[in-house]
Amino acid sequence: MENNTLFDLARQIEQENGTLYETVCQQIYDYAELGEQEFQSSAYLKEQLKAIGFRVTAPIGGLPTAFRADYGDGHPKIAFLAEYDALPGYGPNQDQNGHACGHNWIAANTFGACDVLRRIYDDNQFSGTIVYMGCPAEEMLGGKVNLVNEGCFEDIDAAIQIHISDGDTTKVAGQSLAIDSVEFTYHGVSSHAAGAPERGVNALDACYLMFDGVNALRQHVTPDARIHGIITNGGLAPNVVPALAQSKWFVRAADRNYLNELTQKVINCARGGAIMAGAEMEWRYFENSYDNMKLNQTLIDLVTDCFHEAGVENVDKSFLPPSGSTDVGNVSWVCPTVMTNMGIGNTDCARCHEEAFLQYVHGEYGFRGLHKAVLTQVFFALSIYTNHGLQASIAEDKRRLLAERNAG
Ligand SMILES: [Zn+2]
Ligand SMILES: [Zn+2]
Repeated sequence: MENNTLFDLARQIEQENGTLYETVCQQIYDYAELGEQEFQSSAYLKEQLKAIGFRVTAPIGGLPTAFRADYGDGHPKIAFLAEYDALPGYGPNQDQNGHACGHNWIAANTFGACDVLRRIYDDNQFSGTIVYMGCPAEEMLGGKVNLVNEGCFEDIDAAIQIHISDGDTTKVAGQSLAIDSVEFTYHGVSSHAAGAPERGVNALDACYLMFDGVNALRQHVTPDARIHGIITNGGLAPNVVPALAQSKWFVRAADRNYLNELTQKVINCARGGAIMAGAEMEWRYFENSYDNMKLNQTLIDLVTDCFHEAGVENVDKSFLPPSGSTDVGNVSWVCPTVMTNMGIGNTDCARCHEEAFLQYVHGEYGFRGLHKAVLTQVFFALSIYTNHGLQASIAEDKRRLLAERNAG
């Protein structure tokens, strides 16, 4: 069957079953569970996937709410990166969870893509494996880092995600910064700050002297680097020399290898502060470290065509400067990956993560975009499943990624 005919078949299947994908979108929206607590959401998604014949493996990566669901056999294996964690702090009293980042919408667009594809697979139109990768806790922990480290992506040939975004531009080549999250703890000796200051070792001095060191370091970093810290524990009372002080830092850069060097320099600043104050210092990573996104030109070009095919206009495939960080970056180091941000078309100024954006991740706006996101991913996957040239090209990309990783 020609791709055009296959795409028409996909459109027809999507139209016939689209209300199910809307239901999934709404249900995960209603659960609105925080990262690592997505028990109802993941149970519901596993149930839905089992109902359409997927083989569910759970839990994976050592995370209770992570799972994987496979359909079909052999290669290519294409992974759809689902998320389903919500954010805290919404509602009139800022005490409700909400899907202001639209992860319910991602859970549903990946589900829809998998469902359309398995129906086409059953029609003997291609061979390969459709993989729904249930990735929890994107906002807090970065669950994909655990999944990558535990080898859950080892057999995957290509991965895709369509995230929701505000505005009407769809971005398919956003870069992201590698990030390390480091906590420093300083131990000193408390004493009366007025009566016996000479007996004290001031842990807070060590803590803020590190800030001076980092501020000097800023002159000698590459322009993409971002270093931002806060003091999380600075003592208990002004008349007691603090015996304990703590700070938390995010250190970011456009390239993981450079970030490794930079984080070492930040740790040295902490050591310097401790030496000056005579305090002891220990440090730890308090969240997962993310790698930068490795962009894949073949997949960027392909997904751009697929967005157009699905009726999404305004697709920007220029390389955009990095601003934030995402755990999809880690996936892009082990298999060719494309991470896209699809503009939902809202014309107010509501942005992702804001209360006012909640209305766009479900309902009329959300659902209209949802169907386009489903179709884009189906076209994307069908193009790979049915094209040996494309398969050879991404296989070569994967070999190069793994070689670079081993060399690094
Ligand atoms: Zn978010
Ligand atoms: Zn998000």
